[in-house]
Amino acid sequence: MEVSCGTVWNDCLEVIRENVGEENFNTWFKPITPLRVDGDVLTIQVPSQFFYEWLEDNYVPVLKRAIHTVLGPTGRLEYSVVVDSGNQQAPAVSVNYPVNGAGNRRSAVNGFGNDDYSPFSYKALNPHTVNSRLNAAYSFDNFVEGDCNRLARSAGVAVAKKPGITSFNPLMLYGGVGVGKTHLVQAIGNEIKSNMPSKVVLYVDQSDFTNQFLNALQNHKLQDFQNFYQQVDLLILDDVQFLAGREKTQEMFFHIFNQLHQSGKQIIMTSDCPPRDMKGFQERLLSRFKWGLTADLQEPDFETKLAIINRKMQADGIQIPTEVSEYLAYSVDTNLRDMEGVLNSLIFHATLLKKEIDLELAKEVLKNIIKEIQSDVSVDFIQKTVAESFKVDLDAMKGKVKKREIVIPRQVAMYFCKRYTQLTLALIGENFGGRDHSTVIHALESVEDMMKTDPNFKATVDDLGKKLKMRVN
Ligand code: ADP
Ligand code: MG
Repeated sequence: MEVSCGTVWNDCLEVIRENVGEENFNTWFKPITPLRVDGDVLTIQVPSQFFYEWLEDNYVPVLKRAIHTVLGPTGRLEYSVVVDSGNQQAPAVSVNYPVNGAGNRRSAVNGFGNDDYSPFSYKALNPHTVNSRLNAAYSFDNFVEGDCNRLARSAGVAVAKKPGITSFNPLMLYGGVGVGKTHLVQAIGNEIKSNMPSKVVLYVDQSDFTNQFLNALQNHKLQDFQNFYQQVDLLILDDVQFLAGREKTQEMFFHIFNQLHQSGKQIIMTSDCPPRDMKGFQERLLSRFKWGLTADLQEPDFETKLAIINRKMQADGIQIPTEVSEYLAYSVDTNLRDMEGVLNSLIFHATLLKKEIDLELAKEVLKNIIKEIQSDVSVDFIQKTVAESFKVDLDAMKGKVKKREIVIPRQVAMYFCKRYTQLTLALIGENFGGRDHSTVIHALESVEDMMKTDPNFKATVDDLGKKLKMRVN
C-alpha cells in the first residue's frame, strides 16, 4: 500500500523540531521537500549541494534519531540534491543510518505514531493530547495581508473567532502553488487552538486522509475511523483536489463532512481551483463544497512580496537594505515557495560568510539558485509573463485569435517556450490552441526577424528573457 512520504517526513520533522532551535529548524528543515518513501527508505529533496553538506556536517545525529523513530532501526534516508546546472537532479545520494539500539518501528501504512490520533487505537479524544498536526510557525501575525489574499484572510480571521458559527462553513480556499493556502489554514488552526483549548483541531492533507482511510478499510476499522473524525471540532483538509477520482475516499469524506456540518463543527478545505472547476468529484460533494464561502488567494503583487521579505528577515533578526528587498521582490517571480528558498539561502550565506546582506551578496546568492527556479519555468509561467508584459488577454493569446496585437505576443511566448523548456515544437503548438509544429517554426523565425529589424522589439524580448531566466547581471 502506498505510504505518504509527506506524513513520514512530517513525523520526522516533529522529532527534529524538538532537537534543534526554531531558527535552525526554519532555515535547514523547512526548505526540505519529501519526495517518496519506498519501504524503509525516505527520499528528501534538498535545494543544493551546499545544503546537503551542511546537513551532513551538522545534523546527522538528529536526522538519524528522526529516521529511526519514524521508520524503525532499518530506516534509511536518501537525499536528492537539486544541482546548480541543467534541469536534471543529481542521482539520489543514499545515506544509511545503521541500526543503533532498538528503533521504534511504526506501522508505515497507518502513517501515525500518536495513539490519540490514530483511528486504530481509538480513544475518546483529549484536546490536550491529540496531535493536531499544526505547525506553530504559521500564524496570522506572520501572514502578510495584501490585495491578493484579503478576502481569504478576513474569512480566516472570522472563522478563527467563531468556528462553526459563521456562515463560512465550509471555508474553501483555493489558489495556485505557493500562494499561502497552507499557511493560512494552519494559522486558523493555531489561533483556535490557542484561544479555545477545549476544541479539537485537526489538520490533515489529502494523502494523510486517504492513507488512513485505506488502512481502516483494509483492517475493517471504518467505524473507528468515522468515530475519530466525528470528535473533531475543526477539520482542516489541505489540497482536497487530490481526492479526485478516489470514489471510496470521497464517499467517506462525504459522510464525515455531513456529520461534522450537522453538528456545527467547522470544516476548512484548500484546493488548487474553485469547486466549479474541480474534476473527478461526486456532484453531491461538490455541491457541499459550495455551501459556505469560497475565497481565492492570488499571486502576490510587488508590495506584498516586499512585505513578506521584510517580515521574514526581521523574524530571523537579519537587517536587509531596501534596495535588496526590492531587488528580490522583483527578481523572484515564480512563487512564494521559491522566495522562501531564496531568502533561506541568503540567510545561510550571510551567516556562513558573516557578511552584511547587500545587493552584491543578494545577486551572488540568487545567481547560484537561478537555475533551480529556472528549471521550474513552465509553459504556464512563460505564457503568463509574456501576456502581462504585452498587456494582452492570456486566454486570447493561448487561443485562436488572429489579430496582430495578439499574434506577436503569442509568437514571443512560443519563442521562449522553445528556448527555456524541453518541449518539442509539436507540444509547444499544443499549448497554443493546438497549432502544428510548422506554425511554431514560423513563429520562431518571425521573432528572430523582428529582433533583427526592430531594436525596440529586441529590447522588449531581451527584457522578458531576463525576467524569465532571472538573469541578475
Ligand atoms: P500553498 O499551500 O498555497 O502552496 P504555502 O502556504 O505553503 O502555499 O506558502 C508557501 C510559502 O510562502 C510558505 O513559506 C508561507 O509561509 C509563505 N507565504 C505565503 N503567503 C504568505 C503571506 N501572505 N505572508 C507571509 N508568508 C507567506
Ligand atoms: Mg499547501
